[in-house]
Amino acid sequence: PPMDPIDGGGSEKFRIFQKDNFEADWLKVGERTFGRVYKVKLKLWREVCAIKGFCTSMPQTSSSRGVIEKVSKMRKLKFKYIVTVYGACTDPPAVVMEYMSSGSLEGLLNSHELMWPKKFQMIHEVAMGMNFLHSMSPPHLHLNLKPANVLLDDHLHVKISDFGFIKWEDFSSSKEFIEHLTARGNLSYIPPETFTESSDPPGTKFDVYSFAIVIWEILTQKKAFPGANMMTVLMKVSSGKRPSVEKIPDDKPKESEAMMNIMQRCWLQKPCDRPPFTDIVRETEALSEVLKIPDVLQDVYRPHKAFATVFTLKEPRIKMNPDSGGEVSQKTFDFLLKKDFRN
Ligand code: ATP
Ligand code: MG
Repeated sequence: PPMDPIDGGGSEKFRIFQKDNFEADWLKVGERTFGRVYKVKLKLWREVCAIKGFCTSMPQTSSSRGVIEKVSKMRKLKFKYIVTVYGACTDPPAVVMEYMSSGSLEGLLNSHELMWPKKFQMIHEVAMGMNFLHSMSPPHLHLNLKPANVLLDDHLHVKISDFGFIKWEDFSSSKEFIEHLTARGNLSYIPPETFTESSDPPGTKFDVYSFAIVIWEILTQKKAFPGANMMTVLMKVSSGKRPSVEKIPDDKPKESEAMMNIMQRCWLQKPCDRPPFTDIVRETEALSEVLKIPDVLQDVYRPHKAFATVFTLKEPRIKMNPDSGGEVSQKTFDFLLKKDFRN
C-alpha cells in the first residue's frame, strides 16, 4: 500500500513534509552561508515550526535519500535539553524542527546582561543536553557546539540544536573537515588536536573542548578570540593558549572559581585529560543548585509573565515592595521587558 506522506509508517514515525504542508508565509529568522532558517506554520498541526535548509554542496545532503537518512537519525533523539526534530522536507531539502521562540544564546548574550544564577543554570542545561547526546551508543557527536546552536524557549531554558549535521565520515580528509568548520565561523570552538597533521577522527572530547569555550562566553558575555585572523588563533590554540580568565567580571560569586576550574579542565590540551560529560553534569548540577534563586523569591515572581526576565537580568535588580505584599508593579515589569541593558 502507498505510504501516508505524513506518517511514514513503521514503529518510529518519521515524517516527510512537502512545501505545501506549510502555510504560504515563510518568515526568515536566520541566514548564513550554509542555508536559511524560516519560521513556518504547519497546516495540519496548526503549529509553528522552524525549517532549516540544507546547503546542497554539503556532502550527503544533495540527494533526498541523504537528507532523510541524516534527519531520521536526529529524530530518534528526544530529550528535554535538545531541540525536537519533527521530520524532513525533501523539496526543498530541509529539516523541520521545533520553533524556539527566544532565538539563540548567542543573541541573548549580546542583548542582555545575565545574572550569575542564570549563567550557571544555562551552563548546566547545555551540559545536560550534551551528556544525553554522548550517552547514546555509539556517542552522538555534535561537532558544532556554540552559542548560536544553543536555542532558548519561552522561559529562557536551553535546548541544543543542529546536532548531527556534521559527520567526520562525510569528509575525505581532516583538512576538508577543518575547512568546513572554519567556513562556518566556528574556529574558536575547534580543539587543538584537530589541527595536528595526523589527527585521529574527533571523539567526545571534541565537544567537551567546545563546551569549555561556551562556558567562557557565557561567563564573560564576550566572544573568544574576536577579530583575530585564522592563522593567529590556530597557532595560539595549538600552543596551549586559551581565552583569558581575567575577562570574567569581578563581581563573580565565589562559586565561579569552581566553574572556571571545570572550564579549564574541559579545554586542556590533551583530549584524554578533559573530563567526560558524565562527570561534568554532576559538577555543574551541584554548582547551579548552590546559586539557585531562592524558592521564596521564585514564588513571588512566578505568576508574572516577566518572571523569566527578572530571573535573567542583572541590573536593575528588583526589590520586593513589602507594602504591596511582595508584588512588583506591572509597570516595572513592562519597563524591564522593553529595556535593553547593554545600551
Ligand atoms: P550552523 O549552520 O553552524 O548551525 P548557525 O547556528 O549560526 O550556524 P543556523 O543554524 O542557520 O546558523 O541558524 C541561524 C539562526 O536561526 C540562529 O542563530 C537562530 O537564531 C535561528 N534558529 C535556528 N534554528 C531555530 C529554531 N529551531 N527555532 C528558532 N530559531 C532558530
Ligand atoms: Mg545553527
